[in-house]
Amino acid sequence: MKLCLSDSSVRHSYFVDGLPVEAAMKSCRQLISRLLPLRKSSTLARVNASSGHVEVQEEQGSPLKYPQVWLRDNCQCAGCFHSATRARKSHWERGPLNIGVSQVGFNQEEQQLEVIWQDKHRSTFDIAWLRERDFGEAARKRYLQEVYKPPAQLWGKSDFEAVRREFQYQDVLQQKAVLKDWLEALAVQGFAILKGAPNDINVAKHLAKRIGYIKRTTYGDVFEVKSKPNAGNYAYLMTPLPLHTDMPYYEYKAGINILHTLVQSESKGGANTLTDGFYVASQLQKQHPQDFEVLRSVPVNWFDIGHDGDDSKPFHSLWRAPVICLDADGGFARVNQNTTKRDSRFSVSLEQAVSWYNAYDKFLAIAQSEAVEFKTQAGDVFVFNNLRMLHGRTAYEDAPGNKRHLVGAYVDWDIIYSKLRTLKFPNAKD
Ligand SMILES: [Zn+2]
Repeated sequence: MKLCLSDSSVRHSYFVDGLPVEAAMKSCRQLISRLLPLRKSSTLARVNASSGHVEVQEEQGSPLKYPQVWLRDNCQCAGCFHSATRARKSHWERGPLNIGVSQVGFNQEEQQLEVIWQDKHRSTFDIAWLRERDFGEAARKRYLQEVYKPPAQLWGKSDFEAVRREFQYQDVLQQKAVLKDWLEALAVQGFAILKGAPNDINVAKHLAKRIGYIKRTTYGDVFEVKSKPNAGNYAYLMTPLPLHTDMPYYEYKAGINILHTLVQSESKGGANTLTDGFYVASQLQKQHPQDFEVLRSVPVNWFDIGHDGDDSKPFHSLWRAPVICLDADGGFARVNQNTTKRDSRFSVSLEQAVSWYNAYDKFLAIAQSEAVEFKTQAGDVFVFNNLRMLHGRTAYEDAPGNKRHLVGAYVDWDIIYSKLRTLKFPNAKD
């Protein structure tokens, strides 16, 4: 029979109950699989006797392994899972800890793992769905790197030309593929430069909207960087601006900084400085592990008191956090550094304060030795990860008819990663 079915010359020559034999066989197999859902097939399912995990062994590769409690927690049946909202319906009050597997099997016809539970509940799981949720190390790593966050590529001064990425402003606005590449560069290299933006104070706002939503701060929707009389912020002077991150005094610190150059200074200065704070932290960890530990653990008071403009509301921002913040996996999450926004109130012990200054000095020395310098031109938009990059500028002098003028805006990483995933996986369902 198998030979007949694979021979196209006779495939539709036989009929059963008016159906071509192939279709009849399929409905027959489906009927059998409904009657005998736990029959054996070339893919095998079993409960591992020692670990208790459910294992699915396909014809090739290592077995896929799942905890019983996870399978029950993620039962896809209509009673347990609301597919329209991709939401778990069951187990709201307590976890499904005490319900064990009674029987497992693999339905070859439907390509599904079938589970009968001790309380007689039945679950089925598509093999493709299971593969995507494999607990194996390689599969977990792949998901985290491809879907969660692209891994950062740390760089030092000598790598700058190799990691520098440029895009055309209009391409980012008009082409989804370029938008994706730009956001990926921000995630991986930590910065990128857009060329050819018009002489329009709304460019930074347009880019924020292209990603999703602008982040409003105490400095407004957008902020203008130019020398101002009665400046309320050190950035609004013509003095050199030391390497720093913006807004360390925010718990929800701005994710990226979009800096559009409308007018660049014709004086010698006004150049951008930039260094990869994660790279600096990694070098500190290698060269001075004890100092790294101090900067990772001692909280610093970051503050900002004032008001922006004459008519805006006064603010008093304050956030305590170390210079180097790690994530749940021990990776670099955020670097805080801003000499002008570091509070003279240092709410740690005398001993911690002294060891912190020693460690901080080493961090700054590496940051400065690894910093690059370049000067944006009118029409350039310099965009960088504000959780990672330290940026600054050299001193400059305005002249009549040449007043350096930048417009900036912020966007949060939650919004950026979300946009990036919708561009990479437009058909994602769960
Ligand atoms: Zn269920």
